[in-house]
Amino acid sequence: MSEILVFIEHKDCLLNKISLEAIAAAQSIGKDLGLKVSAVLPCDKDCSLAQEIAGYGLEKVIVAKNEKLGTYTPDGYADAWEQVIKTINPTYIVMSHTYQVRDFAPKVAARLGREVVGDCIRYSASSGQLVLTRRIFLGKLDADVTLGGEAPYFITFQSGAFRGDNAEKGSAAVEAMDVSVGDLRMSPEPPFQEAKASVDLTKSEVIVAVGRGIKSQENLALAQQLADALGADLAASRPICDSEWLPIDRQIGSSGQTVAPKVYIALGISGAIQHIVGMKNSGTIVAINKDGEAPIFDIADYGIVGDLFEAVPVMIEEISKAKS
Ligand code: FAD
Repeated sequence: MSEILVFIEHKDCLLNKISLEAIAAAQSIGKDLGLKVSAVLPCDKDCSLAQEIAGYGLEKVIVAKNEKLGTYTPDGYADAWEQVIKTINPTYIVMSHTYQVRDFAPKVAARLGREVVGDCIRYSASSGQLVLTRRIFLGKLDADVTLGGEAPYFITFQSGAFRGDNAEKGSAAVEAMDVSVGDLRMSPEPPFQEAKASVDLTKSEVIVAVGRGIKSQENLALAQQLADALGADLAASRPICDSEWLPIDRQIGSSGQTVAPKVYIALGISGAIQHIVGMKNSGTIVAINKDGEAPIFDIADYGIVGDLFEAVPVMIEEISKAKS
């Protein structure tokens, strides 16, 4: 046993980009522990995504193939993974902590008599031993977890724990593995779409987030202008979504989305721990807050202590000048 398997999530052969974060995590662990990394991609055909994934620094891309794997079902994926694991005998299985993974990974682990160390935010490796860190008590404490018992060990990483663009490129062989899939006890409905205009903020490169400092729903227009100037998506702290000024899918934090854009601009957000856990892995954090003691400044790379209603119009003007 000397291998890490990393799960590649996709829909109709279209990559869920969060899997690149899982590749980056697995590659990093692989380097630290001297283990090879291979990717596993369940599909009903010779998945067209396999070649794209083969462009990363992996040993192999294994397409676990069965006609029942065209659409995700927990039964189908659990059957496929069980066989792949029994064939490859890996030491670690690394996945991103997505809804799909939460659905099927514990099922596979339980079948094999193992646990999942879920939603990890980082790891350290010393003397061949992995120590995984998980947030507990709504992000107030970090718990270090070591792995006991027999391999394989199932690990999932929180969105943003690793950067997908750090996944190293390379050239891997693609291999099909026919797997058998038993009865599927459920048939999926079409994917749930909350609202036509809903965005997936986990894929945003630039986010302008507003907090209670924006004062009224009408003032959101100012934040939207800044977002438009930057090609950014608009997000918010919880009070803004609780007030229904923006839909819930725009909420960042422990009860909202976890994001890791290249740039996160926080306008009138105090930086409560429940908000911070959702955005602290952003590349560059810019905060505008009139309270110089606001905790958001503890994690901000750039800060303006001042009134957002004075600062934002100047920013919009300067951005449009820079563009012209
Ligand atoms: P406030 O804390 O009220 O801060 C407003 C900030 O705006 C202040 O710092 C103020 O100085 C500044 N300000 C005011 N006027 C201006 C101005 N003109 N210019 C510049 N700055 C100005 N919160 C989340 O965001 N996401 C979550 O997922 C989440 N989940 C939660 C889950 C639980 C179980 C609990 C208990 C709470 C949760 N919260 C969450 C709420 C969280 O505790 C905070 O109450 C919330 O994040 C505060 O939002 P805020 O920063 O917008 O508002």
